[in-house]
Amino acid sequence: MVTVTSTDIHNAALTAEQAARRRTFAVISHPDAGKSTLTEALALHAKVIAEAGAVHGKAGRRSTVSDWMEMEKARGISITSTALQFGYRAPDGTDCVINLLDTPGHADFSEDTYRVLTAVDCAVMLIDAAKGLEPQTLKLFQVCRHRGIPVITVINKWDRPGRDPLELMDEIGTRIGLSPTPLTWPVGIAGDFKGVLDRRTGQFVRFTRTPGGASIAPEEHLSPEQAAARYPDDWTTAVEESALLSTDGADHDQQLFLAGITTPVLFASAVLNFGVNQLLDVLVHLAPAPTARPDLDETPRAVDAPFSAFVFKVQAGMDAAHRDRLAYARVCSGSFRRGEVLIHAATGKPFTTKYAQSVFGQQRTTMDTAWPGDVIGLVNATALRVGDTLYLDEPVTYPPIPSFAPEHFAVARAGDAGKHKQFRRGITQLEQEGVVQILRSNLRGDGAPVLAAVGPMQFEVAAHRMAAELGCPIDLEPLSYSLARRTVAADVEFLDAQRGVEVLTRTDGALLALFTDRWRLDAIAREYPDIHLEPLVAAAD
Ligand code: GDP
Repeated sequence: MVTVTSTDIHNAALTAEQAARRRTFAVISHPDAGKSTLTEALALHAKVIAEAGAVHGKAGRRSTVSDWMEMEKARGISITSTALQFGYRAPDGTDCVINLLDTPGHADFSEDTYRVLTAVDCAVMLIDAAKGLEPQTLKLFQVCRHRGIPVITVINKWDRPGRDPLELMDEIGTRIGLSPTPLTWPVGIAGDFKGVLDRRTGQFVRFTRTPGGASIAPEEHLSPEQAAARYPDDWTTAVEESALLSTDGADHDQQLFLAGITTPVLFASAVLNFGVNQLLDVLVHLAPAPTARPDLDETPRAVDAPFSAFVFKVQAGMDAAHRDRLAYARVCSGSFRRGEVLIHAATGKPFTTKYAQSVFGQQRTTMDTAWPGDVIGLVNATALRVGDTLYLDEPVTYPPIPSFAPEHFAVARAGDAGKHKQFRRGITQLEQEGVVQILRSNLRGDGAPVLAAVGPMQFEVAAHRMAAELGCPIDLEPLSYSLARRTVAADVEFLDAQRGVEVLTRTDGALLALFTDRWRLDAIAREYPDIHLEPLVAAAD
């Protein structure tokens, strides 16, 4: 075996070139807007899979093996976040590598989605044409804004009756303050989709149906004259509306898009594979490639600097046969070769990377090299926690990923009193993976830690994992607290003495004051303004 040292492979020019080819993004949407369908359609267009329906283990499509997946299937939700990578050559010959990071569908796992959004360069906001902006889309969009992530908007399900397109644009503009700049405009109302007017070329892109949308729908490009002859009314309406948009300044501007001020909009029908080509085109030509990432001191680390990556997700129990633990790291700079020994910034210890994989759904393949923007799945990475940095040659530490403000709390106890050890080990593991936050106090003792979560389904996952995988079923006793604020040691005694308030210590050392309701919190904050009560990061911050 040839031993490769970091100096051999660290080639700044090659790294910069590879980074420039990468497009790393996630799809944010409300459940049922069509995220899985769109993911499959993208993979199909990039020819990763022969026929749509082979990527996600959704009911009836593909058998799943682990009990973990069983739980997802039973609840009809997707918990595991994974990354799909595929090469794509655009019709103009531009070669790209697309990294699509999957996010959990259910709102209770929004903390996971938040972590995934720290690892992308761009987001696709998928909206159901009939429903418009839905609560979870709004919440996730706030996270994108908070992090300054550019957003591409896709109005999906245009093949079904839906809202008026101008009204949908208004809604995006007024409710989230992002100016829509449609790149395509529908020809034919929702439910009678004939194709789109490509606002940049003025051409008509006509779509044709394939049975069930299972394979790539052929596209036909027609001149405005041909379009007008074919669909006189619909074409005229589309042209008039597009002109209205231009008068309103709703034309694409790359700088404003990258600054998160405008959002290019596409109209699509993921299930029929309409508009998917256009989305790939936008990803290739408009979406940003990875750029320098600021470290803890806000010094940017250039993409062509030596290797660095940060862990945005730790996941265990994905494979019942192996019970392994995977850490997903997003490469920020440099190149990665499997087998190299990296440095774990948190401990300064070496970290070997013999088992590096790319993971999507049930499919895993060994990953030998990776470049900025890529996601590496590191197997059995027990030392790695969410937010950890790995690097080579030049030390760097990226800022930690802030935790969400928990809103649900429950005391956990071992179901079997004799299983102290398993209980403690299991709880620590869940905490390290970020499944739940763990709070403790002297009063409650080590045998009864408080689990804190953003959504109650996180408790279900914790209980399921403890019983099925970590060898210790647990009893959960819900607590009536619903709000948490960070406080300081000097104020603990005072707060603990208040009714409906309790202070606990999170594993990272943060002191969290829990309140039963906002009324109580507000009353204390008003009466005792000197008491330290600092909001925690929340989705809508
Ligand atoms: P997810 O929860 O966002 O992943 O949504 P899915 O991809 O599972 O889609 C939810 C439902 O909407 C499924 O029944 C899809 O077949 C359907 N769907 C997705 N995209 C479209 C579309 O463009 N048109 C129509 N008519 N149905 C769609």
